[in-house]
Amino acid sequence: MKYILVTGGVVSGLGKGVTASSIGLILKACGLRVTHIKIDPYLNTDAGTMSPFEHGEVYVLDDGGEVDLDLGNYERFLDIKLTRDNNITTGKIYQAVIDKERRGDYLGTTVQVVPHITDAIQEWIERVAVIPVDGKDGPADVCVIELGGTIGDIESMPFIEALGQFSYRVGAGNFCLIHVSLVPVLNVVGEQKTKPTQHSVRGLRSLGLTPNILACRSATELDENVKDKLSRFCHVPAENIINLYDVSNIWHIPLLLRDQKAHKAMLRVLNLKGVAQEPDLKIWTSRAKLCDMLHEPVRVAMVGKYTGLSDSYLSVLKALLHASVACHRKLCIDWVPAGDLEEATEKESPDNYRNAWKLLKGADAVLVPGGFGDRGVEGKILAAKYARENKIPYLGICLGMQIAVIEFARSVLGFKDANSTEFEPDTENPFVIFMPEGSKTHMGATMRLGSRRTYFQVTDSKSAKLYGSKKFVDERHRHRYEVNPEMVEQLESAGLCFTGKDDTGHRMEIVELLEHPYFVGVQFHPEFKSRPGKPSALFLGLIAAASGQLEAHLKKGVPNGVVNNSAKKPFRPHVNGTKLTNGSFEPGIYRNGKGIRA
Ligand code: GLN
Repeated sequence: MKYILVTGGVVSGLGKGVTASSIGLILKACGLRVTHIKIDPYLNTDAGTMSPFEHGEVYVLDDGGEVDLDLGNYERFLDIKLTRDNNITTGKIYQAVIDKERRGDYLGTTVQVVPHITDAIQEWIERVAVIPVDGKDGPADVCVIELGGTIGDIESMPFIEALGQFSYRVGAGNFCLIHVSLVPVLNVVGEQKTKPTQHSVRGLRSLGLTPNILACRSATELDENVKDKLSRFCHVPAENIINLYDVSNIWHIPLLLRDQKAHKAMLRVLNLKGVAQEPDLKIWTSRAKLCDMLHEPVRVAMVGKYTGLSDSYLSVLKALLHASVACHRKLCIDWVPAGDLEEATEKESPDNYRNAWKLLKGADAVLVPGGFGDRGVEGKILAAKYARENKIPYLGICLGMQIAVIEFARSVLGFKDANSTEFEPDTENPFVIFMPEGSKTHMGATMRLGSRRTYFQVTDSKSAKLYGSKKFVDERHRHRYEVNPEMVEQLESAGLCFTGKDDTGHRMEIVELLEHPYFVGVQFHPEFKSRPGKPSALFLGLIAAASGQLEAHLKKGVPNGVVNNSAKKPFRPHVNGTKLTNGSFEPGIYRNGKGIRA
């Protein structure tokens, strides 16, 4: 097993996760089998209890692990399936060591950070690195380990110490350290400054780690003399200094690595030159270019609670992007803060209210993503009502499905006070209820989590067709509440169809309005399994419906998300103003007209 460690210096938010994913991807393109580990030096056992507004979305794995969103980047870039143990946190390590201490495994010894915690970290890495993640048997060739945070953080010290010991133990030809750093330009002189990188490399060395490769983030291409200076002061060969300057979309990053021969540098350090081939990135290249050329917009209103931080809905945005690219449309996201749609806002801040409704009414499609707690719920219900009544394509995910059911119960069945017991525990008309096996006292990992099977109830529903007319589909879940099975008959008799259910038939998984152009709600989160080039079926359905292509897709069927291009309007390449102003990687997704990081 060969190991690549990716660390970050100078500032956070450098795109370390995308860099680590691109490193994995290019090695995979060289014919190697790659797995990923993310280390998060916080005390939470997992990301499940962390606010998406502070930390970005909680990504859910097949095994039900609630993990850092970087695992989503790895899964998407490499098309692999990771396990909860591929995300190491300080909390997990300390819990394992303290459990051992209580069992008496260290009887007689003083349990300390060094060696007990540092040993536990190394054992964890070695154990997880050999778990196959690409559907084949046996361990991968290379394990890419990303250390969260920035060098010098107090929290990451035990990990740095453990990784220093680990690099020494596995030996020089088996360990490659890539340090991602920043080369800023000072406005006054317009000069690319190497000092922050020099300092962070010095910090790394003082902690016992020596970088083999530097990946320098910068707004524009680095001058040759800047690279020479970095090489001299950081003691890294010039050919091992890779420049990740701002590009028009993140799919260009692996191409940048290849063009600068980063794979050769890695293979050299890891003694893998003989076994790897030249990277094949043909499909990746055409997709990156296609994404730049799309200009015909598809506007999606994202009606959510955390509209101020796009990372809160990262996988949903990615799934929308994959679907938009497959439909040859440029994705434009209009963020609609759910609460702003509510009547109370009309009185308190009429401008926000007007603006929210204007965005909603201007959209080609409406998406209500998952969520917890009652803030903004009434606004989401209004958005679902608007989409239902005006025949605007709608996709409701998890909470987005539950509120669509509540809206239908209120408006069509006439139960004015229909609600979920999550928001009104004593409601007379509980259309969404707490799951019998849930826990209200323990919040961590007590939801219905991970991959579960949904059986299609009819063959002629849009969802069944979009999934390629299979009998069932496995998607990832994360919820505590569900549609009340006692209300299903009433809902169905009024025209709301539950077209997907679990194996018991009591749990509603997919709901559809068959007469509507596209009105689908799902209890699961299809966004987590969407991949570039393999868009999630229901996102594809939404974007296809929003851009007049759904009929063609349904006729042909779209197994594995393969797109029927024949029905599209002629594609007119046009390079438009997709340049970013904020120095981020991703222009494919727009937020109310402005570039955002996603
Ligand atoms: N809060 C809802 C539940 O627990 C929806 C969860 C979600 O959207 N992920 O069921």
